[in-house]
Amino acid sequence: MKELLILGAGSAGTMVANRMIRLLDLKKWHITIVDQNPVHYYQAGFLFIPFGIYNKNDVIKPRKNLIPSPIKYLQSAVELIEPNNNKVRLADNTVLTYDFLVIATGTDIYPDETPGLAENEWGKSIHTFYSHQGAAVLAEKLRGWKGGRLVVNVVENPIKCPVAPLEFIMLADWFFHKRGIRDRVELIYATPLPGAFTKPIASKMLGNLLTKKGIAVEPEFMIERVDPDANKIVSYDEREVDYDLLVSVPLNKGSEVVGKSGLGDELNYSPVNPHTFLSDLFDNIFVLGDASNAPTSKAGSVAHFAIDLFGENFIRYTEGQELLPNFDGHANCFVESGFGKGMLIDFNYTQEPLPGRYPLPGIGPFPLLEESKINHWGKLMFRWMYWNILMKGLALPLPPTMSMAGKWTV
Ligand SMILES: Cc1cc2nc3c(=O)[nH]c(=O)nc-3n(C[C@H](O)[C@H](O)[C@H](O)COP(=O)(O)OP(=O)(O)OC[C@H]3O[C@@H](n4cnc5c(N)ncnc54)[C@H](O)[C@@H]3O)c2cc1C
Repeated sequence: MKELLILGAGSAGTMVANRMIRLLDLKKWHITIVDQNPVHYYQAGFLFIPFGIYNKNDVIKPRKNLIPSPIKYLQSAVELIEPNNNKVRLADNTVLTYDFLVIATGTDIYPDETPGLAENEWGKSIHTFYSHQGAAVLAEKLRGWKGGRLVVNVVENPIKCPVAPLEFIMLADWFFHKRGIRDRVELIYATPLPGAFTKPIASKMLGNLLTKKGIAVEPEFMIERVDPDANKIVSYDEREVDYDLLVSVPLNKGSEVVGKSGLGDELNYSPVNPHTFLSDLFDNIFVLGDASNAPTSKAGSVAHFAIDLFGENFIRYTEGQELLPNFDGHANCFVESGFGKGMLIDFNYTQEPLPGRYPLPGIGPFPLLEESKINHWGKLMFRWMYWNILMKGLALPLPPTMSMAGKWTV
């Protein structure tokens, strides 16, 4: 029997495991997946928890329910990967061996790495919605908040779902309108980027939308520290932004086990070929999802498109054929913009988001780079698709690579 070992049973790990039991001959292959946490989070749903749209329980499922029996599921932290020996050591000292390894350990937040952020005011005047617990605590805070200066700050890029902080601040605008206190709230988005988003056309359109909603942008803000007692964030170039309520997207880093196993860069992201996800370091290791250094968005949609192509490519590879360099960095993301509307962006490594219709050219039904109610419903519907289609390893009827059909050049 050959052993395919998958580390991490989040979005990418669960999708690839469930895809591979359909594609591999299980008389010849054995699949094992390991995760440290018994609960699977639908992380895209964290955005809605602070505003009471979802509650804590709406975004979780027991991990074992998503992993059917032909796959062996082990609940344990991975302590060390020994790629020269094709071995993985778990926290309880179990040693697993593999023929092929998939690293899908994702990325997580590290609030301790910004001075002042996770100290005496953490969970009081300083919050995050980038964790399940953080989103729930922030919901309590927002419910009773009397108003003031709310600052959303991204510590450093890359972060998972780069549009989520923008969505948060636009939903905050809607939420405070609904609560009747918008005139008592100032909204500021302090970002390390020169504008609202990474790509110029979307950045301009999203920037205009923020202006229309009365949300100020503090661009190129590279935070150096938080002064939790003086309620201000300070940048390396000595700018200060005061807040009454700080919502932080802390530093995102790959899993520590990747770094300490010698497989990561300075942020513990593992270097790969961005078109095949084969490790640059070992020819029997693939890195899928947020754990790799591929220069695409760290998003569930990217993991899904990549895995659509990975399955058959992996089989070719195990049969001695070359990998096809077929992944183009395809990402798409609904961008919730408040008041029951949303936008949609679709892009890849080389093509930035453009206006148009998706997925059917000219028909849609989803408009690209334009606010609409149907995009909002698409975003809400996505949770069902996540649990019932994607996590079961089934394919959506969408091409995995980006198409220019239905897009308009501007
Ligand atoms: C607030 C928020 C909003 C988002 N919105 C969207 C969205 O709208 N659309 C979208 O496409 N994406 C969105 N995302 C991003 C999306 O959730 C991630 O890109 C996706 O989950 C990546 O999948 P992954 O498998 O790489 O990582 P994860 O799903 O994070 O899984 C990694 C797994 O590895 C496990 N692990 C890590 N280290 C170890 C170890 N040492 N031992 C054992 N197990 C380990 C973890 O427990 C975890 O289960 C959002 C994320 C957040 C936080």
